[in-house]
Amino acid sequence: MRRRNGIESGVEADRHEPPRIRQRIPRDRESFLAEIVRLGFRGIEDLLFDLPLRYEDETRVIPIGALVPGQAALVQGTVELTDIRYTPRRQLLCRIADGSGHLHLRFFHFYNSQYTGLKRGLIVRAYGILRDGGLGREFIHPRYRVFKGSLPPLKPCLTAVYAKRAGLGSRPQEQLIAAALDLMAHNRLELTDLLPPALTRPWASCSLFEALRGVHQPPAGLHAEALGKWLAPFQRRLAFEELLAHALSVQKIRMDWEGAQSQPLTIHAKPLEHFLETLPWRLTRAQQRAWHEIASDLVRTKPMLRLLQGDVGSGKTLVAILTAWATLTNQGQLAVMAPTELLVEQHHATFQRFLAPLCQPVLKLASRSSRSQRRSILEPLAAGTPCVVLGTQNLFQREVAFGRLLTVIIDEQHRFGVEQRLDLVNKGSGLRPHQLIMTATPIPRTLAMSLYAGLDQSRLDELPPGRQGITTTIFPAERRTEIMHRLRALCEAGQRIFWVCPKIEENEGSGGRAAETAFDELRKALPGFPVGLLHGRIGGAERQQLIDGFREGRFQVLVTTTIVEVGVDIPEATVMVIDGAERLGLLQLHQLRGRIGRGSHSGQCLLIYENLTPDARSRLEVLRQSSDGFWIAERDLEIRGPGEIWGARQSGGLTFRIAELYRDRDLLALLPEAARRLADENPQAVDSLVERWLGGDLRFGSA
Ligand code: ADP
Ligand code: MG
Repeated sequence: MRRRNGIESGVEADRHEPPRIRQRIPRDRESFLAEIVRLGFRGIEDLLFDLPLRYEDETRVIPIGALVPGQAALVQGTVELTDIRYTPRRQLLCRIADGSGHLHLRFFHFYNSQYTGLKRGLIVRAYGILRDGGLGREFIHPRYRVFKGSLPPLKPCLTAVYAKRAGLGSRPQEQLIAAALDLMAHNRLELTDLLPPALTRPWASCSLFEALRGVHQPPAGLHAEALGKWLAPFQRRLAFEELLAHALSVQKIRMDWEGAQSQPLTIHAKPLEHFLETLPWRLTRAQQRAWHEIASDLVRTKPMLRLLQGDVGSGKTLVAILTAWATLTNQGQLAVMAPTELLVEQHHATFQRFLAPLCQPVLKLASRSSRSQRRSILEPLAAGTPCVVLGTQNLFQREVAFGRLLTVIIDEQHRFGVEQRLDLVNKGSGLRPHQLIMTATPIPRTLAMSLYAGLDQSRLDELPPGRQGITTTIFPAERRTEIMHRLRALCEAGQRIFWVCPKIEENEGSGGRAAETAFDELRKALPGFPVGLLHGRIGGAERQQLIDGFREGRFQVLVTTTIVEVGVDIPEATVMVIDGAERLGLLQLHQLRGRIGRGSHSGQCLLIYENLTPDARSRLEVLRQSSDGFWIAERDLEIRGPGEIWGARQSGGLTFRIAELYRDRDLLALLPEAARRLADENPQAVDSLVERWLGGDLRFGSA
């Protein structure tokens, strides 16, 4: 929005950084493409396939009197009073009324021009989420525009909200996409439709262009509710394309695997027995079964390609350790890839501990290691020295070469494609490493069969014995003081507590408690008990110190973000507090809660909410009722609410952009046949599709 006297054309009160986007988006193909590259997109596909996180409906005005708390809506009213208050902190308050009721717009961060701009008698359109505050109905930090005289028409389509990309806000991205779609509509920019119509016609007859226009600019009248059901052809078309891309990437790997040779391992019963005796526990029956399946693969000349699924805490790492044992006793190398540095560190410690009896090196390729440190790792790798090496995707760097890579384990990943590159680095031997992929994302067997057609699959369907269970309690944020008292008692009893917040600092747009704020509060509330603060912006060494300090009990409370969501294993931790739990997806909450109750002590999970919609309430209820990942995943779909088009980003390795396994299960059933047909009829399209949906960007866990 351009400012003219601050009023006529409206003032956007978005607190996003000023867009770096040019005032006028170029309207010819070449300059447009150059412009999006300048803004950091890899190309037109990168722009158009960065799909919205959710929608806001600014196509209709809702009477203030009809709003219910928690509802997001556009309202329109006349300014009655604008005031700066200092109770308790400096804030701008503006009261508007529309005849059906009145509403306060409340700002804690504002410019003086906003104060002067909201003049009595002017009309305001504001988009926000209704809360009941001290003064009655209010919007906190709404997006708004002020008008004098005639009002412009409402938007013709729903407003898409995008995840922020480096330096670019959601609104500039919306404008770029609108420009791209416009160019395409006028045939000045093309995007290849990779699916033959015959493949999609039976259930969604729309072109790729129509599908993209649909998701970026859903027409007014299509309510968020309807979109939430995912029945619109444009939505199904894209979900199918994405699922197909995944199935194709699996198919590619499988075909690539066919006829490939691997080094068969020898597994002797006696030494294995001895090794098992050195472990602190006996394998669960499920672990035994999975290991048996893996071991029978490893002894063959055909490379293993196996998916190991097991709910949070089912003990996948131990199965990985046995695989490491088999590799090392065959004088081989094992590469273990984990999604975050945090997990790499943790696995490093675990593997070192369990494999100690073998006296062979367990190495770690850290992103921050010095040149000489790197050399001390890369040299033995290239020389073929038997060892385990752990890393993130940095294991795929060109300079990493293996002399005798016999096995590869990929932890908490669902995506295929990249890991293939590992076999290229197996120096000259022409042998393919055995590959094990481990994931905690619950997928029912039948669905997994479609998506991972042709992969062998093992399951850990049992938790290690002695788990005491976790009680889950739900609290409104108003009862924070009571929670603090409770935590204090828990600290005194020596318990170790995770406190997870949805964001790091206060000024990150989306609501919810910031970790930094919670950290300050906890330090005040728990004098005498040191509190740690860990988040994605805290670097390697310090991060490690924090997690070690918590593991070793040097401090009992760790305030953190969803960075600890996947894989973190601290069996001594018994309490998990999730602040702003209503903002997280069900599976994400399940993963977070899975961080506790891993030892032999019972656990407590406290879910704190600020604003509870009926859907959010049922979500938290589900969590209270069960800790079974499969059951939770099914409920998740049933109660996905309006507006939560893509839900909160689900994770635990499952990183589809728009598809969802349960919701799209009917599409899933079509995959094996579709993948086969496409590979036969249009093999080039296969690579392009995989590149489009899985190429390059892996979105590894970060927070
Ligand atoms: P996940 O499957 O989520 O990766 P982990 O491998 O981290 O789970 O194991 C979860 C916890 O259970 C760890 O603390 C681990 O030490 C413990 N554990 C694993 N296997 C067993 C077992 N057979 N008996 C008892 N505890 C086990
Ligand atoms: Mg794990």
